[in-house]
Amino acid sequence: MNFEEYQHRIEQFLKNEIELYGDELVLPRDAVQALFDVHESQADWQSIGDLAQFHSAIKDCLKCPLGGNRIKFVFGSGNPAAEIMLIGEAPGADEDRQGLPFVGKAGQLLDKILAAIQLDRNEVYIGNIIKCRPPQNRDPLPQEIEACLPYLHKQIELVDPTIILCLGRIAAQTLLRTTESLGRLRSKVHDYFGRKLIVTYHPAALLRYPQYKRDTWEDVQLLQRIYIESKK
Ligand code: SF4
Repeated sequence: MNFEEYQHRIEQFLKNEIELYGDELVLPRDAVQALFDVHESQADWQSIGDLAQFHSAIKDCLKCPLGGNRIKFVFGSGNPAAEIMLIGEAPGADEDRQGLPFVGKAGQLLDKILAAIQLDRNEVYIGNIIKCRPPQNRDPLPQEIEACLPYLHKQIELVDPTIILCLGRIAAQTLLRTTESLGRLRSKVHDYFGRKLIVTYHPAALLRYPQYKRDTWEDVQLLQRIYIESKK
């Protein structure tokens, strides 16, 4: 959860308290403990200034139930000072086995997409919205995303990319905090806290629906254009 979300939740909580109890503040014991736990666990890693150390600090995370079922934690990989950061949804079976993002068939397609615009995965940084595999590759649940998202925010802060490419609906809707369809979010440049963010289809979706390849090609050409412009 980022600062704005905490602020919103606290405001909602206080409004409810005022409606229910007037001036008296009633806090359930476990809610207070949870607040301390979140604060303490975040305090452990929030001051870390290096991706490798951050990886070590969170690799045993069990903040949501997905942690108990994973084979491997999938932190992210690539150039730790990349100008372009790619963000997908969640590890699949191959990624869970290898502990790396985008290593299955979807990953091979992603490599081809990057090669088409003269990039390879060692130049970019690749991560996911969540770091442990959901069962049967289902969509991550909102509470799983909420638990994991602070880690991605920290990774973005550490890599400090100029451009973010969201791969798929979940990544785009999560970062842009919207329920708009991927079709409406793609083919434009969004602002993400001062970084440029663009949206395209997830490579796994392209394997199922090859008709989206043309749109994806347009999106990565847009990525290439703004990348070239950013270097001028
Ligand atoms: S998905 Fe994220 S929050 Fe959940 S256990 Fe894995 S690393 Fe932790």
